[in-house]
Amino acid sequence: MTILETATKIINEGPICDHCMGRQFAKLSTGLTNVERGQAIKLSLAMEGDASFKDTGDDSLLEELSKSSVYARKSLKIEGEDDKCWVCMGIFDKLDLWADRAIESIGDIEYSTFLMGTKVSGLVGENEEILWSECGITQAEQFKTEMNREVGKLIAARTEKEVEFERPDVVVTMDIAEESTSIRVKSVYIQGRYRKLLRGIPQTRWPCRGCGGRGCEQCNNTGKQYPESVDELIAEEVIKATEGTDTKFHGAGREDIDALMLGTGRPFVVEALNPVIRSIDVWELEKKINEFANGKVEVEGLNIVEKGVIENLKSAKADKVYNLKVTFKEPVSTDKLADAINSLIGVQIHQRTPQRVSHRRADLIRKRYVHNMQLIEKTDEYAIIEVYCDGGLYVKELTSGDEGRTVPSLTEKLGIQATVAELNVVKVDI
Ligand SMILES: [Zn+2]
Ligand SMILES: [Zn+2]
Repeated sequence: MTILETATKIINEGPICDHCMGRQFAKLSTGLTNVERGQAIKLSLAMEGDASFKDTGDDSLLEELSKSSVYARKSLKIEGEDDKCWVCMGIFDKLDLWADRAIESIGDIEYSTFLMGTKVSGLVGENEEILWSECGITQAEQFKTEMNREVGKLIAARTEKEVEFERPDVVVTMDIAEESTSIRVKSVYIQGRYRKLLRGIPQTRWPCRGCGGRGCEQCNNTGKQYPESVDELIAEEVIKATEGTDTKFHGAGREDIDALMLGTGRPFVVEALNPVIRSIDVWELEKKINEFANGKVEVEGLNIVEKGVIENLKSAKADKVYNLKVTFKEPVSTDKLADAINSLIGVQIHQRTPQRVSHRRADLIRKRYVHNMQLIEKTDEYAIIEVYCDGGLYVKELTSGDEGRTVPSLTEKLGIQATVAELNVVKVDI
């Protein structure tokens, strides 16, 4: 079928606007809008119709076309306007209105890039499919593709913001049936490193074990198992700075509640949800967080990153350096302890999931290396030992042996029960 034969079939289905006519041939000839395609095709049809009218007196094509083309009406010497398009039901006459709605729903939210989406009502989607199958159309684009593009162009022109497909700051969805718009705002991702300077603070919020977060006597109706967390100590100022609704905390692993996180700190990303403000002064934010966290937690090196960084944080196998304060069930000589420590260096540790975490983690045997281990200090009461090992090695059990579940262990090498009394993470090496 030629283009004009297909177009004639389309015209015979009912009145159609320039957008909807042009869209049926959208994949042909680039550098044109669908309106330009539609106008060109309708003009060609009007000339065809006029030619056969003048040659044979057959006005059937002009008659059908007169509902959609001023030129057909002129040839037939009739007045009037185009009828409402049966495919889009006149939606393309209201592009400005949709742009108004979209801009209004974004409101005061700061953004530099956006993307339009369309939820097509049942009827428009059906109309389009009827047209394609009745007329054998193969070069069309979808209604929503044109809608998104055309409204996007209007918004870009009015706001000087850019359309972005990969990672737009704001996605606006136009619900055609509801005649409304809704928005989704991209989170702001702030990367940094934290130190935890006080024991007893978990990394993330923990709902109360008694009530699961609803609030009960046990948790003083806070719904929380612990009054504060690294997550919450950081979140407060992030929410203020971004005017977001909440935050999500993503850490590169975690330390035990009773362990300090020292040295250069642990990498993390805090995600501000539904931010109103994206252009954050990270230096100012860092200062505010550290003031608020008041010596319990310190952050540094804050910078704005993309979402992908979280995946890297989570998957990175970071080596760790721990500083352990170890006590012994019986007196141990410095030489004997040093020998036991040396015998663990470079050794692969077979570690069955520790009893203390077995309710949260699958029971299996993990293999991790101790890269280095050093006796830093030895008194009659305790020893300070530094361990440099693969991430994921449980160093409390490396010390205690966990009743034979971790092999080898310091306890096994010494023949004396050793226990970690205090634990600090001094380095997370990503
Ligand atoms: Zn239309
Ligand atoms: Zn509770």
